[in-house]
Amino acid sequence: MAEQITETKTWVETQPLTRANVLVVDDRPDGLLALEAVLSCDQYDLFKASSGQEALRAALFNDFAVILLDVQMPEMDGFETAKLLRETNRSQYTPIIFVTAINKEIRHINQGYESGAVDYVFKPFDPFILKSKVKVFVELFEKNMQIKRQAALLRHIEAEEQERKILELKQESYRSYKYLSDAVPHAIVKVKPSGQVEYFNQQWLEYTGFKSEIDWKAIVHPQDRRKFLAFWLRMCQKNKQTHEIEMRLRSAQDGIYRWHLVRAVPEIKNGENICWIASCTDIDNIKRTEESFKVLSQELNRSNKELEEYAYVASHDLKEPLHVVSSFVYLLEKRFQPKLDEHDRQYLKFIKEGVGQAQRLIKDLLEYSCIGREKLYEVVDTASVVTEVLANLKTIIENEKATITCGSMPRIIANYFEIVQLFQNLIINAVKYKSRKPLEIQINARFENDKWIFSIKDNGIGIDSQYKDRIFDMFQRLHGKNEYSGTGIGLAICKKIVESHGGRIWFESVLGEGSVFYFTFKHGA
Ligand code: ADP
Repeated sequence: MAEQITETKTWVETQPLTRANVLVVDDRPDGLLALEAVLSCDQYDLFKASSGQEALRAALFNDFAVILLDVQMPEMDGFETAKLLRETNRSQYTPIIFVTAINKEIRHINQGYESGAVDYVFKPFDPFILKSKVKVFVELFEKNMQIKRQAALLRHIEAEEQERKILELKQESYRSYKYLSDAVPHAIVKVKPSGQVEYFNQQWLEYTGFKSEIDWKAIVHPQDRRKFLAFWLRMCQKNKQTHEIEMRLRSAQDGIYRWHLVRAVPEIKNGENICWIASCTDIDNIKRTEESFKVLSQELNRSNKELEEYAYVASHDLKEPLHVVSSFVYLLEKRFQPKLDEHDRQYLKFIKEGVGQAQRLIKDLLEYSCIGREKLYEVVDTASVVTEVLANLKTIIENEKATITCGSMPRIIANYFEIVQLFQNLIINAVKYKSRKPLEIQINARFENDKWIFSIKDNGIGIDSQYKDRIFDMFQRLHGKNEYSGTGIGLAICKKIVESHGGRIWFESVLGEGSVFYFTFKHGA
């Protein structure tokens, strides 16, 4: 269906065209009458003035296409009037035709032109010529008016076009702002510092159901309201900073409260906060997982503690009967030595080895469960620790002909006995897992990123990197009992000691070339 086109007119087009005015000035009524008789016409309005003053007053309030000015007038003659007309804003460019009966001398004519005349007409004038002259100026005025009108029209169209473009740009930027804010999976609301809502996205509307004034009491969980109030006060006090709060917000759809991270970012204009843009991110699942993790880890800690307690009691109580077994095996062996055949001796050997292994296991288990029980922390000089450990291990070091070097060692705050145990376990392993090469062990410490990193390096058999994570677990052994003796608890004890001091333990190794065990201690832990 064809659309009906209705022509719309601009403001300028609706303005009426200004009709031209013509002013005739003569002190003599008969002169005025003569001019009126000649010049009266439908094309313009004729104004009459009988003195220079009257002419000036008329020119103050009207625009004239042309002024016909009598030269001889009492009080203010035509030349004087013309001069003053030129000084008036409105008539400074209005063409003036002097009309005179007597001043025909060239001197007067020149004076007339000097005072701003465009023409000089002598009485008696030819009506046709005078009419024609006036008509020329009237048409000139009308053309001028038309040009002015068209210029104004152009300016108006340009201004309208500019306004339209600005409006389009604003709408475009609002549209992309809206698309963007609707695309993010967060509820977004923009509020003035007074609390008045400026903008909200679709998610905000769907979740809270609030379009205009927000009733925070209806949204915020009763248990989080006090916290929210403190948050709002903080925002008011520090209104040029970003603020964050975790709180439960009520869903308008099902009335269920879900945890949200609310982040309020200030919009600053000319150094003033003009708005808060608040984004609400649903963190309910994370929060609930965190909470169940917390419960689980508390539960784990409790059961670990119970297990440690059990291990401590069991290993402690097992020590005694094992000691009895080993003592009586010794007595039996001593008493029946001559009567024992080869088989009996073999059996006794197995019993002794079994008891020895069980005793070592119990000793290690007891050590493991004791870590962290002793809460005494003191300044520990790790250089003295190394000296003490090397003294403890003097015999095996000498047997293995090991070369041990130690760099400068720091003082740390720790439990002395546990640190001795840590160094001892690692140095024993370095000796135990030696290769065919002459054994070399280097002990060092360096300060890095606010913590001490200790290292114990050997040139032994090395460890396959696939065991990187498992090797510090309880009972993890990479070799059979026949190859190397041990319980598989030594490194687990080291890990527990380091971690109970807030540090970390790990190793780097190349099979067949050796291993470096690292562990960290906080500066002044
Ligand atoms: P254990 O020495 O009693 O077997 P650990 O917990 O001390 O138990 O060590 C676990 C395993 O790690 C060892 O069985 C051994 O295979 C390996 N290991 C530990 N230290 C070294 C080392 N310095 N060089 C090579 N292997 C090592």
